Amino acid sequence: MEDCLFCKIVKKEIPTQIIYEDERTLVFKDIDPQAPIHYLIVPKQHFADVTNVPAGNDIVSHIFTVAVKMAIREGVSDEGFRVVNNCGELGGQSVEHLHFHFLAGRQMLWPPG
Ligand code: 5GP
Ligand code: ZN
Repeated sequence: MEDCLFCKIVKKEIPTQIIYEDERTLVFKDIDPQAPIHYLIVPKQHFADVTNVPAGNDIVSHIFTVAVKMAIREGVSDEGFRVVNNCGELGGQSVEHLHFHFLAGRQMLWPPG
């Protein structure tokens, strides 16, 4: 996926503030933060969106495990946080590489708009 922005970030071809990394995921700061803490949790493998994850692949489960790890690390597991996946045009997805937003540090609102 030569033209994919997040594949380039995963390959460290674009400088990014990396927060955490394991064999399957990279976590980095969102360039346009919507909360005091706003990270993107990205699988290293390219999936255009969550509908492209094959049945039986546990990457989404792993991403939530990483999200909880980030919450504990940031000290927000008790006060709360939000994990968001935007999927497709109406879902508000702007980068076509599966990613989950990890947001914390302020009161979240509902409905999200
Ligand atoms: P989406 O709108 O697809 O759910 O989320 C994409 C996110 O990627 C947005 O929150 C946007 O601010 C972030 N983003 C876009 N380009 C870059 C970039 O080059 N670096 C970083 N760190 N974040 C980016
Ligand atoms: Zn990609």
